[in-house]
Amino acid sequence: MPVRSGIVKNNECPCSFKEDLAMPIRYVDAHIHLSDEEYSDKVDEIISEAANFKVTAMVSNSMDYATCINSLQLARKYRGLVFAALGVHPWSVNNLSEDDLQRTSEFILENGRAGEVLAIGEVGLDYKYKDVWDRQLKVFDEMLHLAELLNLPVILHSRGTSEKIVELLPSYNVKMVLLHWFSYPISLISKIVERGYYVSEGPPVVYSSGIQAVVQNMPIENILTETDGPVRYFKPPFNGKLTTPAFLPHVVRAVAAIKKMNEVDAADQIARNFENFFGAAPKG
Ligand SMILES: [Zn+2]
Repeated sequence: MPVRSGIVKNNECPCSFKEDLAMPIRYVDAHIHLSDEEYSDKVDEIISEAANFKVTAMVSNSMDYATCINSLQLARKYRGLVFAALGVHPWSVNNLSEDDLQRTSEFILENGRAGEVLAIGEVGLDYKYKDVWDRQLKVFDEMLHLAELLNLPVILHSRGTSEKIVELLPSYNVKMVLLHWFSYPISLISKIVERGYYVSEGPPVVYSSGIQAVVQNMPIENILTETDGPVRYFKPPFNGKLTTPAFLPHVVRAVAAIKKMNEVDAADQIARNFENFFGAAPKG
């Protein structure tokens, strides 16, 4: 019988996790920042709790050089359960010197060649930081070139920039593209599907009509689940609690309801999508 840790208390969640734990189900978190400082003193507890909640794969995304190192260490420590996605996030470009960019790229290249990197991520473009737009484009270009060189999938942040990114992607030789937390425009979905790209959706699918519409319009084969923790979600049932992979049953349940699938089948399809996308088999 799996033991619950102290991260999610028995009475904190409106769902009956006891019943969930009895189901032959497995969950995958395609996008979480286990390397984030906010998790640093509880990461071991979070990972063991996730395993108890039948989470069989977590992709630790990175923001900068320090979190790249941390993601890689976690992937080594929890081999086969935690996987490293390395990259420079558009929010990090503001304080990024040329030397920082170079040493991060070299680190990714070296470890990518050693077969220790699952994907390039989190990278992308963010319209909110227009003042460093040219710098964002330069870093994005460098990250996409690393994905080409290492033949790795890319995990993309595309807030307000999905159309721009989809327009730029054909100039790179990257085959596997994941638009994380894709939310709009719905009209872009036909192109996303045609190109064989994937989207990953997290806790907002439970309460956001916009995200629900994305899931409705995407084939289930192109959908992955995520938490993007430590980002917090303030609507019920999450109520601003620390985000952990233990939130995934809510996410899968919402996806299954939209797709009119049974929860176990939806979870299984998503785990297979994970394998198809990353080329890594979740445990279990
Ligand atoms: Zn993220």
